[in-house]
Amino acid sequence: MNDWNAATTEAPLDTAAYIALEEQYGAHNYHPLDVVLTRGRGVWVWDVDGNKYLDCLSAYSAVNQGHCHPRIIDALVRQAQRLTLTSRAFRNDQLGLFYKEVCELTNSHMVLPMNSGAEAVESVIKAVRKWGYRCKGVPEGRAEIIGFTNNFHGRTITIVGFSTERQYQDGFAPFTPGFRVLPFGDFEALERAVTPETVAILAEPIQGEGGIIIPPAGYFRRVRELCDRERIVLILDEIQTGLGRTGKMLAEEHEGIVADLTLIGKALSGGVYPISAVLSNEEVLGVFQPGDHGSTYGGNPLACAVARTALRVLVEEGMIENSARLGPYFLAGLQSIRSPYIREVRGRGLMIGVELHPEAGGARPFCERLRARGILCKDTHQHIIRIAPPLVITRDDIDWALERIAPVLEGRE
Ligand SMILES: *Cc1c(COP(=O)(O)O)cnc(C)c1O
Repeated sequence: MNDWNAATTEAPLDTAAYIALEEQYGAHNYHPLDVVLTRGRGVWVWDVDGNKYLDCLSAYSAVNQGHCHPRIIDALVRQAQRLTLTSRAFRNDQLGLFYKEVCELTNSHMVLPMNSGAEAVESVIKAVRKWGYRCKGVPEGRAEIIGFTNNFHGRTITIVGFSTERQYQDGFAPFTPGFRVLPFGDFEALERAVTPETVAILAEPIQGEGGIIIPPAGYFRRVRELCDRERIVLILDEIQTGLGRTGKMLAEEHEGIVADLTLIGKALSGGVYPISAVLSNEEVLGVFQPGDHGSTYGGNPLACAVARTALRVLVEEGMIENSARLGPYFLAGLQSIRSPYIREVRGRGLMIGVELHPEAGGARPFCERLRARGILCKDTHQHIIRIAPPLVITRDDIDWALERIAPVLEGRE
């Protein structure tokens, strides 16, 4: 441990002192588990007291490739020593290669690079509105975008304006008009709601923050047909489901459809650097002219070099196949736990949710107990424990985890 602390010049603090600093000086917009992490490698992280944990959150699926993957870190360091930021006022030698590689891997035609997931969402909102006016003939100012209950697309004013989570909106009004929210998975309601002014439908293939909600089989195929028939842009937010999390490169592959616009972020850098991207056919992103949209850091060479390696690692090291192979193994292991607290265990690939009955008293206390047993999980929507380890997890790691998770979920610890 001393080696790691020696990297900083200050004397190390203890857990309570680090927490006290955050509480005193930081905005209190999170309620983290009281574990202070200092190091990570693969599926494992260590706290400042030297305790080791299996990471079953993966930074909300940003760390799919595992913590501090050596090839990604190497790409980061090398590029950092060459060139980090040019702004888009000039070109750089990483951007075009990133575009080509990400397009080839995802069968896309065009890319728009941004930094955070929310910025990618904001970017498509602008793009589909402009497309609606310029290409579909919707009267200026009338474009409507349809989203769904329990959605999560980020935290900007525009995005929380069509959230159905009360806390995300509380105290932040007024919001941006032009959105309609419909029940997720109800095709008839969607079909009825579409008008000639509907320019886009925005959905997550599986709702992550919403509680690992998987829509009915065939739902997205019908949504795709509706979009084709009514000339509506289908936007899939794959910021959490994409890049191997569900056992495919993109979760849309499970549905047998292709979105018009796909959003990726999070694992695009393997948790090393903020980068997101809008992947598109030519028609929609083609509406942007020079000056219409931009970002100082978007598409910077450091982000591009990191993302190129993060994508290569994901593919070359078989992480997507590992997610497809071991996801069902982990799921079956969790489903075999007999507990009066568990309502349902569901998932796809290594994106798994354990939904508890309301009488269990909430998911958070279970996450606290799992933490004491060396497993870091995060509750979502009060009653759901999300289990989403890095995609480099092994069968042995899963067996290790199940031995510890079972007694906690059974209420024995
Ligand atoms: C995390 C997430 C976002 C927002 O990404 P940020 O980088 O936090 O802005 C958007 N959509 C989905 C589905 C996400 O999981």
